Amino acid sequence: MNTKYIFVTGGVASSLGKGIIAASLAKLLQARGLRVTIQKFDPYLNIDPGTLNPYEHGECYVTEDGAETDLDLGHYERFLGVYTSKANNVTTGKIYNTVITKEREGAYLGKTVQIVPHITDEIKRRMLLLGKTGQYDVIITEVGGTVGDMESQPFLESMRQLQWELPEEDFLSIHLTLIPYLKSAKELKTKPTQHSVQELQSVGVHPDIIVCRTEKNLTPELRNKVARFCNVRPGHVIQSIDAWSIYQVPLNMEAEKLDQIVVNKLRIDYLPQANLDALKDFLQRLRHPQHEVNIALVGKYVELQDAYKSIQESFVHAGAANSCKVHVHTIKAEHVTADNAADVLGKMDGILVAPGFGERGLEGKICAVRYARENGIPFFGICLGMQMAVVEFARDVLGYADAASTEQAPETTHPVIDLMEEQKSTTIKGGTMRLGAYPCRLVKGTLAYKIYGKEDISERHRHRYEFNNAYLEPMQQAGLKVSGFNPDSNLVEIVELPNHPFFIAVQFHPELKSTPERPQPIFVNFVKAAMEHSANCSRK
Ligand code: GLN
Repeated sequence: MNTKYIFVTGGVASSLGKGIIAASLAKLLQARGLRVTIQKFDPYLNIDPGTLNPYEHGECYVTEDGAETDLDLGHYERFLGVYTSKANNVTTGKIYNTVITKEREGAYLGKTVQIVPHITDEIKRRMLLLGKTGQYDVIITEVGGTVGDMESQPFLESMRQLQWELPEEDFLSIHLTLIPYLKSAKELKTKPTQHSVQELQSVGVHPDIIVCRTEKNLTPELRNKVARFCNVRPGHVIQSIDAWSIYQVPLNMEAEKLDQIVVNKLRIDYLPQANLDALKDFLQRLRHPQHEVNIALVGKYVELQDAYKSIQESFVHAGAANSCKVHVHTIKAEHVTADNAADVLGKMDGILVAPGFGERGLEGKICAVRYARENGIPFFGICLGMQMAVVEFARDVLGYADAASTEQAPETTHPVIDLMEEQKSTTIKGGTMRLGAYPCRLVKGTLAYKIYGKEDISERHRHRYEFNNAYLEPMQQAGLKVSGFNPDSNLVEIVELPNHPFFIAVQFHPELKSTPERPQPIFVNFVKAAMEHSANCSRK
């Protein structure tokens, strides 16, 4: 079978959940036995989102091979349980960078370099690239942005060309739109969808399937109307109704027969029905929790839900694993002080101090760590959260009053967290952190070892600073246990406090590998510890 290419575009509005629809379809095709991957083409000029403030596009997701990517790749991995790579996220910046570099090398032999064909050829090359590896039967490409944006035009033009260049049965186009419900008229409105499809067709792209986001069920008449005005078959208008969980969407898409329509159009021979038992089992536990806990997520970017997307999702997975509803309360680190810590954090069953960059909010994070440490509240620190746990310990237990990370205070006399050696000469910001998967060896008899149940693990990283090993001795003697370290470089990866009910802090980002079917073990155990804390509190 040839590799099949499916493209997902969006219209009417942004944030309709193209990534979730792409991931849901991928999940259904995978559950029928196909090898599927998803890639995202983003229309902005940044080479990757690594240099973007999380307020711009939400969290930056890191792959095994160290690519800093769009957060939709996180959804792809969580839905499919398959790793993505550098090749799965392409930006306009990357495309232009390649073309301009080639131009400077003289690769175009004196030709005028133009958007068509040079930029579009490079886009098409990348759109087909993963298909050439032989690893996949189906490549789903999510085209970022909204149809009609000037920025997305070259992507749509490339899609248009591929529509004719690929065999008919190897190309499929899905357009996601919104059918708004007008309360005053008590009516669902199809006009924005009609306009969106017209816009798409005006650049020569013809959708095979229209998926309509809606808050009310679409009647057969309404579906027929959309089909008639948008030149698609009546059965190819699919509804995507607001779902109680994103993980319910694959099941909704299956009920709408999206995968069957796709398989028919792509003429993929007989395939079994999708087996979604594991997902259904997860949803069952998610829907009917037996317990609940309150967790504080202390961070800097709390106004935007998507800034800590993978952490939030990890709590959904870990909650379901414990049959527990996890209420995550995002707390702005800047607002936490020694005076108000008890008011802000006192009712929490667990405290997670989040990753982050820069100085703002660091003292608040340190206060949150101290409150958790002194009051026996389950604590979990991630990356910057781990670094602040180390600073807090150095200040309060070892008495190094000015202990700090040099990211925060370059002049400190106790740089317990310091810039990694290889970072000292780095001036370029993009793609130069310690990124991607690194091995970590766990120390037997520790909480970390108990959680993972094995000695050697691998987790993903994204940081420039590290635990300063010059302080290893005094820290360990004072009771901070190093329970995980990199076996090649000796970098400290995990610290914990054995005399605390649950206190663990990690330099890596465990949230990046959690999926509904394989919840991340530290999150699972943290939620369990929070449940115990909650039970103890109610007993008192
Ligand atoms: N700013 C810290 C560093 O660069 C932590 C990074 C993070 O939390 N991802 O080391």
